[in-house]
Amino acid sequence: MALYNDQGIVLRSYPFGEADKVVVVLSPNRGKLRTVAKGVRKTKSRFGGRLETLTHVDLVLYEGKNLDMITQVSIIEAFPTLRGDLDRVVAAGTMIEVADFVAQEDEPTLRLFLLLQRGLRALDGDQMHPDLLTGYLLKAAEIIGVAPALTHCAGCGANDGLTRFSFAAGGALCERCRTPGSYALRDGLTAYLALIATSDLSALPEPDLAMSRESLGVTRRFLEYHLERGLDSMALIDV
Ligand SMILES: [Zn+2]
Repeated sequence: MALYNDQGIVLRSYPFGEADKVVVVLSPNRGKLRTVAKGVRKTKSRFGGRLETLTHVDLVLYEGKNLDMITQVSIIEAFPTLRGDLDRVVAAGTMIEVADFVAQEDEPTLRLFLLLQRGLRALDGDQMHPDLLTGYLLKAAEIIGVAPALTHCAGCGANDGLTRFSFAAGGALCERCRTPGSYALRDGLTAYLALIATSDLSALPEPDLAMSRESLGVTRRFLEYHLERGLDSMALIDV
């Protein structure tokens, strides 16, 4: 039996046995890690509130047969600001849901971990940027390998006359490549999305509120199409 050290962001937890919890953590080194926190549901747990969802924690774990057991926890970053605001909680929940769905067990996932960490940091700032969640979803799509074509036609590669958009075809389409299921996006929206996709989450361009809503709607549906599932956390967002 071995002790080891790891870190990660708590994605979720659920009751296990009488007083324990399974805590699912996104580790940059091990991907999705299912761990057990013993006695965490007792009022006098030695872990306190340190294993709350969204918290970035440093862990000492005891290797178990099925699940590894948490023996020590310390908080690296708790993101306290985002927890007090419903819009941010919903955005954070969506970020977590996507990371949880995409990450695999025993598969290092540094890029996904860093994306989630940067997303939560940006959400924890003074103000929530209206395009932050859109940026996160576009970057997640890139990590998964389903980034939409935004600066060129997904059919022929042409980089102008991108008048149509198609989920199935993989993004923007020119007039010649248009497919029956494709539709016209608002003028400038593809370019707006392209700018968000290439910007750092902490340095997103000045938002254009007329574009923001539609950007999030298109990005959400694009990702849902390629993940083949709806994003439940976004049920509260009207896009
Ligand atoms: Zn084309």
